[in-house]
Amino acid sequence: MKKNMMSKQLNIKYIVVASVLAAVLLFAARGFFRDLGEKTESDFFKLGTVARVTVWTKDGAESESMISAAAHEAERLERLLSANIAASDIGKVNDPRGKAPIAVSKETYELVERSVAWARETEGAFDPSIGAIVKLWAIGTPAERVPSKERIEKLLPFSDYREIKLHVKDGKYFVNVPHALHLDLGGIAKGYIADRMAALLKSRGASSAVIDLGGNVLVFGPSPKKKGWRIGIQWPFRERGEYFGIYYANDESVVTSGAYERYFTYGGKMYHHIFDAFTGYPAATDLLSATVMAENSADADAVSTALFVMGFEKAKEFLQSHREFEAILCKGDAKSPQLFVTPGAKGNFKAVKGVSEPELLFGGDGD
Ligand code: FAD
Ligand code: MG
Repeated sequence: MKKNMMSKQLNIKYIVVASVLAAVLLFAARGFFRDLGEKTESDFFKLGTVARVTVWTKDGAESESMISAAAHEAERLERLLSANIAASDIGKVNDPRGKAPIAVSKETYELVERSVAWARETEGAFDPSIGAIVKLWAIGTPAERVPSKERIEKLLPFSDYREIKLHVKDGKYFVNVPHALHLDLGGIAKGYIADRMAALLKSRGASSAVIDLGGNVLVFGPSPKKKGWRIGIQWPFRERGEYFGIYYANDESVVTSGAYERYFTYGGKMYHHIFDAFTGYPAATDLLSATVMAENSADADAVSTALFVMGFEKAKEFLQSHREFEAILCKGDAKSPQLFVTPGAKGNFKAVKGVSEPELLFGGDGD
């Protein structure tokens, strides 16, 4: 009888302990994996890359239609901003038959203005007047080649952002560039488009989203894990999707520029698609890639291109005087890259196994 009572008490004890444990585990799991609502994902080919948009919605917000609206927004902006489309605003400005002030949309005007501002701020490392040089090399197209020194030198006076003139008259927006100067917003437009897509998704009621435009990622809203959205940072010259580290992002954009994205080799030498506007040749940089985090993607895009062109020392100086940006710089040998981070990014970055943890670029407060 007594034995029976004891075993009953023990059973009750076990049940209570097990229930408490289950409740604790459930509570912990809730904190670890948050319920973000319904997830919808879509891939489409845009801007010469595969774009992936993932949204989370609550209370039955229409996720399919909001993704399709975001894809249309990307298409609308591509038709406005692409240097490869003759009828786009940029195509019209670049048409050698025109060359009087060309009327463009307010949106194009403002992005050109912003590009020129970044050109000034980066002392020409980022330069939206690089279009003629980009076309001459044609990297990433079947016509890619190493042009003659003479042809490059002939175009150099026209890769100069100071020659881009902007004015507004009678409520119309004009861009005026010299003959032979070609605009190319390829170093900033993907970021701008990501920003516009995010604004649209937010306005349609998305609670969280990840917009990935190939090397250009923007996230907003709560993430499944408390630490943030896991963004893999591409290991230069390795298979796409092989990462040297993970950055945990929160309501920000993570943009990477690197030589490995588009290049060709000729005579044993590698030629990539990010140019130095002062030489007309692919930037002779000691960086393998530059990743920039910022609240908006357009600025992160422009700055990542600029840092890559600047190379390690200048990039470090720039970041030290522009603390609104966080960055991960990758240099050295692609087999065993050396990583550097800004203080604010250190806590959110984790190198993969076998890669050394990054060094701080300079002292300062982390997050
Ligand atoms: P980033 O570092 O962000 O930018 C590099 C690009 O910026 C170069 O490709 C060049 O266009 C330009 N650039 C080079 N040097 C500099 C410099 N010093 N300063 C400023 N800019 C520089 N790709 C296709 O294959 N086909 C397409 O039809 C196509 N259409 C596009 C339309 C739009 C509106 C946009 C934004 C991109 C498009 N792309 C297309 C992709 C584009 O060609 C580039 O590959 C892409 O924008 C470069 O992004 P990135 O992240 O690789 O490098
Ligand atoms: Mg860029």
